[in-house]
Amino acid sequence: MDFSLNDEQKMLIETVRRFIAEECQPLEDEIEQTGTFNTAKAQALHNKAKALGLYGMNMPDALGGGGLSNLDRILCEEQFGHTTDIIIRRAFGNVYEPLLHCKGEQIERWLKPSVEGTRTCAITITEPGAGSDAAGIKTTAVKNDKGWVLNGGKHFISDGEWSDFFLVSAKTGEKEISMFMVDKGLAGFTVGKDQKMMGLRGTPHLELFFDNVQLEDVALLGEAGQGFKLAMGALNVVRLAQVGARAVGKASHVCEIMVGWANERKQFNTKIGDFQMVQQMIADSVIEINAARWMVYHAAWMLDQGLDAREQIAMVKVHAAETLGRVVDRAVQVFGGMGFCKELPIERYYRDARIYRIFDGTSEIHRGVIAKSTLKKGAVLFDVNR
Ligand SMILES: Cc1cc2nc3c(=O)[nH]c(=O)nc-3n(C[C@H](O)[C@H](O)[C@H](O)COP(=O)(O)OP(=O)(O)OC[C@H]3O[C@@H](n4cnc5c(N)ncnc54)[C@H](O)[C@@H]3O)c2cc1C
Repeated sequence: MDFSLNDEQKMLIETVRRFIAEECQPLEDEIEQTGTFNTAKAQALHNKAKALGLYGMNMPDALGGGGLSNLDRILCEEQFGHTTDIIIRRAFGNVYEPLLHCKGEQIERWLKPSVEGTRTCAITITEPGAGSDAAGIKTTAVKNDKGWVLNGGKHFISDGEWSDFFLVSAKTGEKEISMFMVDKGLAGFTVGKDQKMMGLRGTPHLELFFDNVQLEDVALLGEAGQGFKLAMGALNVVRLAQVGARAVGKASHVCEIMVGWANERKQFNTKIGDFQMVQQMIADSVIEINAARWMVYHAAWMLDQGLDAREQIAMVKVHAAETLGRVVDRAVQVFGGMGFCKELPIERYYRDARIYRIFDGTSEIHRGVIAKSTLKKGAVLFDVNR
């Protein structure tokens, strides 16, 4: 068992860390204040990241991506957690793994441009009536002689405004769900309002409506009835990366700022870091962040070994998201009134962190998965030597 990182991994982390500190973090305040990421600035950031080979690092190098292992990708995603959602999307891309199931003509139309960063994709599964119950959707796609006719709607779709196409789940039979690549601009496809959120300012979250949208046959991902399963499988690694690893990065970022404040802020003529109750908040944060980080790395290592890590990723999702929640809450407390005041970014981190327990499967849904698997499989899920 070797827990050390090799020189290439250390260099990769250093490169991403420096790019985030120098190019990304300085943009955060303006995005927070205006609620939008200026298009010219977003494009400039995208170009810089791409020139350094930092775009689409999770994609295979044969397609022009970074060709990183799961573990190396996770090391980068942890660093991404040190900045905000919309900046990560523009700089490094959210090139979703389900697109790797593209075949034939689909590769040129949807997969390759996504990896190159010339087209952007959003995942659209959630509907007003179907969130945790992702199979309970009402959107349908019915076969006709030209392809498929799509009807229905989605909501909460992250980055929908910037996206050129959408990976859409739709019922293609009584108990059958398929995935389709749906281009923006098709007749009958309208984009609704931006649903304002508690946090993640700058990232639009959109409603989408499909009214008799005619799709070509080639828009179907995988076989009819199978694409949803393929997509849900591929979304596991997205969950580990975009929620697990980013939550660890974000918690680390906040913890560092909290420790800095505890070392500087004086009350009763002493640093507040000298008070044991403040120390407890720091100690608990450090313990939980380290536990979450090793869970993330271990799950990534399992994926690289070709092992099934579904339950481990569910555990990561819960633990990393809840750790982040506790750490930002403590940070507000350690900062006192300044933690609540908009003059510092702590209150923003607090708002941004809350969604981690909700999207990509709520904590309750993942706890259900973990409990059911454990009741069925027993100790293998908590004793690695079994
Ligand atoms: C900022 C943001 C970005 C998002 N981005 C996207 C996106 O890009 N694409 C996309 O498709 N979706 C997206 N979503 C949707 C997100 O994945 C869902 O909000 C999430 O899955 C929860 O669904 P829901 O909101 O309908 O809550 P519900 O499913 O209605 O859940 C409400 C409550 O009931 C609990 N609950 C539900 N079922 C069970 C159960 N079986 N056992 C125990 N408790 C249960 C939940 O845990 C929760 O506490 C986004 C949401 C937000 C807020």
